[in-house]
Amino acid sequence: MVRGVSVRVEDVSKTYKDRGTTTALKSVKLDIRAGELFSILGPSGCGKTTLLRIIAGLLKPDAGRVFFDELDVTDKPAYERPIGMVFQDLALFPHLTVYKNVSFGLEIAGWPKDKAERRVKEVLELVRLPFDVFAHRRISQLSGGQQQRVALARALARDPSVLLLDEPFSHLDYKIRIELIRELKRLQRETGVTMIYVTHDQNEAMMLSDRLAVMYEGVLQQVGSPLEVYTRPANEFVASFLGEANIISVEARGGVAEVKGVKIDLSLFSPELSGYDGRVLLFFRPEDVKLSGDPSRMIQLEAVVIEKTFLGPLTKIVLDGWGDVKFEALAPTRESWGIEVGERVRMYLEPSSVKIFTR
Ligand code: ATP
Repeated sequence: MVRGVSVRVEDVSKTYKDRGTTTALKSVKLDIRAGELFSILGPSGCGKTTLLRIIAGLLKPDAGRVFFDELDVTDKPAYERPIGMVFQDLALFPHLTVYKNVSFGLEIAGWPKDKAERRVKEVLELVRLPFDVFAHRRISQLSGGQQQRVALARALARDPSVLLLDEPFSHLDYKIRIELIRELKRLQRETGVTMIYVTHDQNEAMMLSDRLAVMYEGVLQQVGSPLEVYTRPANEFVASFLGEANIISVEARGGVAEVKGVKIDLSLFSPELSGYDGRVLLFFRPEDVKLSGDPSRMIQLEAVVIEKTFLGPLTKIVLDGWGDVKFEALAPTRESWGIEVGERVRMYLEPSSVKIFTR
């Protein structure tokens, strides 16, 4: 079976010069481990596809190098790299059979017929499209999810070491997407192939990835496991891109930020903030706001409830009056029965759940 290689992107930059100048990537560095399921996550236009195309060898960087294991592949074209690709636009031949679509690349590579047939059988089984049922159906006779499985089978047919996926499921509905994400994780385990998955959908990236890279405006913002990036975002952009974020801007004097009489000693969060003067951002997730707590130890947020939304097991509460903006709490519904809109309440934050950003 296939085995993945590590992929190292070293200071890769790319500027497009047609129709004005767009800097798509600014000195991007990535170290993707062999056999890892790695996502590149970011909003539209942040440079994800450009980076993937450079890793694929479909596009040359202006500067920087790409390595597969220790081999420098920067100057190798896509067909000389051990990769498979799956894009949102599947590029399957709709009028041809599943068999023809999957065997196409093998035929071009000169595989003998019987060997190609064995391989097609193998990869169709791998993506759970039994050969006898599906091999002779036309692509146009399959559901969207089944078509994606064919695209995966085709990409895996030549035993790639790296599988590159660019928003492959974004046109499918939620249930099918979740099902295919599970399948992808299983395929990664079963084949050991390194998978690099581009998406703008943070939930997808969090569900799927061993680790992920967050990008914004051509610049790599943070790399880490989904949990690390969610709980310890490197900056304001990452904090708000991955889930709901409360971000409150406060003026600090001598290392102390004060919000509505609550003094927050910044050196407790990071020693280099001791004595800090200037604006800081306090970041905390809605689920970290507690309805009860110990005021001697926790940060107290006194505010007015302006909205309450029942979400099943959890209730979202929007509050105003602590800090410069409204903030949200996400509380267990059972604990929030008694809270009414218009009421002034006290809520609590563990200092450890707050992060401070200086801009
Ligand atoms: P999306 O999620 O919308 O696909 P993306 O994060 O994949 O976006 P890229 O497609 O890599 O982003 O594009 C990065 C930037 O480079 C964008 O501003 C885009 O407009 C620009 N760009 C991409 N391809 C070209 C091109 N061929 N010529 C000029 N500019 C381009």
